[in-house]
Amino acid sequence: MTTEQNISLKPFHFFASEEKCNFFTRIQNTSQVHESIKWCNENKYPILFIGSGSNVLFTQNFVGLIAKMEIMGIKKLNETASSLILEVGAGENWHHFVSYCVQKGWGGLENLSLIPGTVGASPIQNIGAYGVEVQECIQSINAYDTLNNTWITLPNKDCAFGYRTSLFKQVPNRYIITHVEFILHKQPKLRTDYGAIRDVLHDKGIKNPSLENVAAAVVEIRTNKLPDPKKLGNAGSFFKNPIISKDQFEVLDKNFPTMVAYPISNFEYKIAAGWLIEAAGWKGIRKGNVGCYEKQALVIVSYGIVSGKEIFDFSEEIIHSVYEKFKVTLEREVNVY
Ligand SMILES: Cc1cc2nc3c(=O)[nH]c(=O)nc-3n(C[C@H](O)[C@H](O)[C@H](O)COP(=O)(O)OP(=O)(O)OC[C@H]3O[C@@H](n4cnc5c(N)ncnc54)[C@H](O)[C@@H]3O)c2cc1C
Repeated sequence: MTTEQNISLKPFHFFASEEKCNFFTRIQNTSQVHESIKWCNENKYPILFIGSGSNVLFTQNFVGLIAKMEIMGIKKLNETASSLILEVGAGENWHHFVSYCVQKGWGGLENLSLIPGTVGASPIQNIGAYGVEVQECIQSINAYDTLNNTWITLPNKDCAFGYRTSLFKQVPNRYIITHVEFILHKQPKLRTDYGAIRDVLHDKGIKNPSLENVAAAVVEIRTNKLPDPKKLGNAGSFFKNPIISKDQFEVLDKNFPTMVAYPISNFEYKIAAGWLIEAAGWKGIRKGNVGCYEKQALVIVSYGIVSGKEIFDFSEEIIHSVYEKFKVTLEREVNVY
């Protein structure tokens, strides 16, 4: 294991703010996972594993070791007439992996095209988009359990997947994911019911879409809607869509009839956080080099040199203002350090 000292974190996360870490290392195999944890335990340093940094916000220097996950490889474990199982290294780029599957005609992940990040981070918040969540294609996860100092394989049912959450998010830093096993389908049932996908396919006159057509539609929608992180630092949706009780929904619905919400059970509603933020007047608002994206209020963007603390403070202002107006508490989706 090679460690570098006093390293700027700027190139390693999408907000590209200037915080630093004491030590930095790249993890290219499973022994290095073990070695880096042991080294931190012996030296009494905290350790944080990251993927591509598309969903983290550093608000201060990280006093400890940042370990960037770079375990690669896509291996076919099993294949039948209808499906196959792939074991994929945690460091593989998510979109490259999805494109590879689409190219091969293996379906299940196409709606998750162009989500930034690594394969290893995909189960952490159970990435989702356009009516699909990654948990639907996850068979199991190989990880190092830092509490019991042992390697484990967690089957899907033990991962506590939920809306933008999982066991790995609920018990942060305990499980270091090295490989994810996916089950993919050779005759996939395409998911084109999501409004924007349907519209793009319709506009192009595509009646019987292929896997490629769906993936291309998703790429087109995302490219038009979301800021390019290379031009404007951002972590995608900064906040989760809040879930509220039916009673609270009914009161809000009466006062704000245009509010975007839908029932998720007999007792709860999910509200579009973007709608709340926009209705509280934040869409397009900029303070210094941080702002609320003009095309999508759920996204906080950095326009230039800005500290993670400034981004965090801006998000606090949004949370307070939404609470004042709607008595709904927004929760950050991004992981704050
Ligand atoms: C423009 C943009 C659009 C986005 N759109 C979506 C979207 O549509 N849907 C969606 O769900 N998300 C979206 N995101 C969020 C982000 O892409 C995902 O959360 C992604 O999975 C993060 O991957 P990463 O490798 O960058 O993780 P990082 O940001 O590096 O890490 C995220 C968290 O996971 C932990 N972690 C990372 N790798 C490992 C590992 N191998 N083992 C243990 N812990 C680990 C880190 O410690 C951190 O807590 C978007 C982000 C951006 C910038």
